[in-house]
Amino acid sequence: MKLICIGRNYAAHIDELNNERPVEPVVFIKPDSAVLPKEQDFYIPEFSNDVHYEVEVLIKIKKVGKYIDRKFAHRYYDEISLGIDFTARDLQSKLKEKGLPWEKAKGFDGAAVVGKWVHKGKYENLDKLGFSLLKNGEIAQSGDTSLMLWKIDELIAHVSTYFMLKKGDIIFTGTPAGVGKVVPNDYLVGRIEAEEFFAINVR
Ligand code: ZN
Repeated sequence: MKLICIGRNYAAHIDELNNERPVEPVVFIKPDSAVLPKEQDFYIPEFSNDVHYEVEVLIKIKKVGKYIDRKFAHRYYDEISLGIDFTARDLQSKLKEKGLPWEKAKGFDGAAVVGKWVHKGKYENLDKLGFSLLKNGEIAQSGDTSLMLWKIDELIAHVSTYFMLKKGDIIFTGTPAGVGKVVPNDYLVGRIEAEEFFAINVR
């Protein structure tokens, strides 16, 4: 199983990190060992002093596909969720400066929170889905999939050009604005519309 993550998919988040707008999706991979086990607390790794939360809508691939046409992309997933792409921002900035890959900053153990899965049929329109991250009871990030530069089906078409998608693979579709640092004892709750998808203690 692989985690395929999209960077810079919301204009407001690109601006807050002073990044350039990409001409095609920014794609990176997290190893399966990055998934935070269910019911486990998130431990800030000792190599970073600036770990950020990034709340993102997740898609679970249900069958093998390669070079998937956008108009057939909906056939490759039934379930969606919400998660966090934890990022060691200090380390990522150093790597970016040197033009090096981001994996150490994005793929460490526990860096991928995967919430509960629900059937996509629950929602009328996946391209108009409100979601949010609450930190210690207050809204830290809120987004809407209508603000994605590349929509879910376009992302599937794009990433399947490079990587064969397999059953169980998860796509992290990018984060909206409002990313920020976590500190020990933070409590993070993710919601799509009013429904809770995950709740995480930070240690
Ligand atoms: Zn992200």
